[in-house]
Amino acid sequence: MDYSKICEVYAALESTTKGLEKTDILANFLGEICDEPELIYLLQGRLFADYDNREFGISHQLVIKAIGRAAGISESEVVEEFKELGELGLVAENVLGKKKKQTALFSKKLSVEKVMENLRKLTTIEGKGTVDQKIGYIVELLHSGTPEEAKFVVRTVLSDLKIGVGSGILRDAIVVHCFSPKDLEDKKVCAIAVQEAYDKATDFAEVFSRACDDSLEKIKLKPGKPVKVMLFPKAKGVEDAFRIIGRPAAFEYKYDGFRIMINKEKNGKVKIFTRRLEEVTKQFPEIAEYVEEHVSGDSFILDAEAVGFDSKTKKYTDFQAISQRIRRKYDIAKLRDELPIELAVFDIIFYNGDSLIGKPFIERRKLIEQIVREEEWKIVLAKQIITSDEVEVEKFYEAALADNQEGLMGKSLDAPYKPGARIGHAVKLKPEDKDFDLVITGAEWGTGKRAGWLTSFDVACRDDGELLALGKVSTGLKEKPEEGLSFKEMTDMLEKLVVEVDGRKISVKPEVVVTVQYQNIQKSPTYSSGFALRFPRITRLREDRGVSDIATLGEIEGESGE
Ligand code: AMP
Repeated sequence: MDYSKICEVYAALESTTKGLEKTDILANFLGEICDEPELIYLLQGRLFADYDNREFGISHQLVIKAIGRAAGISESEVVEEFKELGELGLVAENVLGKKKKQTALFSKKLSVEKVMENLRKLTTIEGKGTVDQKIGYIVELLHSGTPEEAKFVVRTVLSDLKIGVGSGILRDAIVVHCFSPKDLEDKKVCAIAVQEAYDKATDFAEVFSRACDDSLEKIKLKPGKPVKVMLFPKAKGVEDAFRIIGRPAAFEYKYDGFRIMINKEKNGKVKIFTRRLEEVTKQFPEIAEYVEEHVSGDSFILDAEAVGFDSKTKKYTDFQAISQRIRRKYDIAKLRDELPIELAVFDIIFYNGDSLIGKPFIERRKLIEQIVREEEWKIVLAKQIITSDEVEVEKFYEAALADNQEGLMGKSLDAPYKPGARIGHAVKLKPEDKDFDLVITGAEWGTGKRAGWLTSFDVACRDDGELLALGKVSTGLKEKPEEGLSFKEMTDMLEKLVVEVDGRKISVKPEVVVTVQYQNIQKSPTYSSGFALRFPRITRLREDRGVSDIATLGEIEGESGE
């Protein structure tokens, strides 16, 4: 297929803000790629399925170099244009447009296959001396396409197509194209089926081709391939928890660590994924050891929390204390000794060839009781009581807090596991719960003694795959790194993610998730969510979380009392 065809679709999507129009544009296009379902990734601005974490590893500086080289102008000229236009896609379109006019450059048509081939190469080469090679692959594409095609190549490389297509719209387009729903109700039912299939597969190409054949039910869990974890809404208190999950119910410690899905494949290999579907097997060699020694079964997928503890005092530590283990790729043995973790297993969704997601929670728990041999400070089951009694829950709640944990999780005994969904089968109970996990979408450079650092951050929640602004946060970070998460650390992280520059402000790829505490929530016409947080403060960096884990508009609304 010609790349120009997909660029026409991008342009049409960019020209409307209306969700229904976007859905129709996409649904029409899906008709053209039935035989090549992988092209759906390009509509997401990706090259692989969502569970596949291969990255381009391309900063905007590198793209500046590539544009300069392709257009035969200096880097500083590109930077000048960047300052003026604010976005590198437009810069590429502009400067290459001028060049192509001058030289009447003729090139044969750029194909989608060529774009995918070159961009996929970007994800495989790494190490010293590869920068030039990477630039070469981009330049080749910029040379062979029209200026508009160059714009979308650049935007794809920077993972920001600016076409306003989130996973919700793509899902709806699959529904419209594959099922032609009769009415709104039918559309909703189909959307749930497609969403459930997606949460198991985390791969729109697979979901699309299955939906085309009307065989969504054939999408199966497979150990080794990460799935979206089940999420939990908040309860206002013990009584509210019982109201949502029924009586009797299970209550468990809500451990203050990070979520991991432990996969044992049939060949015996253990793979570990965070809830943002990132593989962290290498960073946590002890997890595979504990699982091999303590869990029986040929293949399985366990849902668990990795919790830090102090090896001397045998006291649990908080998430922040062990968070550096998630990213660290070197000194792993040293870090393992310094920052040990215990696994608290709380669910199982696949065992010896069978999916368990439709089974009641109580049965899944019984199974983990049978197959996990507990050993303190290595692997345990989440501490649990089953009760109908509020006083008993309150006591257990206090015990969890005294044990340095965050609170409790309440769980319906007969509920299935719903990958990716945040529904009321289980609820969290945390004291002083005025915080949300949000993603940073932009930032502003500081002044005075904070010049050189980004010091104000735009944060957003999500709504059916779209991001909605909730305001700016400029407190919580530290000037001195030894005091905690610092402005410098955040600046270093965000600078790698810049997609747009507007004077002192930048927009970034939405990848950095932070916990933001606030005093209350106000209605606000200023921000696209319609709400603003009052006195917001960043309290944590959540390396283990991604955009799909952040708070939803529904939750913000719920807490606002509107
Ligand atoms: P929150 O991070 O506030 O959204 O709370 C949900 C998180 O609590 C889950 O994603 C898990 O990482 C964590 N968690 C800790 N203990 C449990 C447990 N017993 N059951 C389920 N989730 C737990």
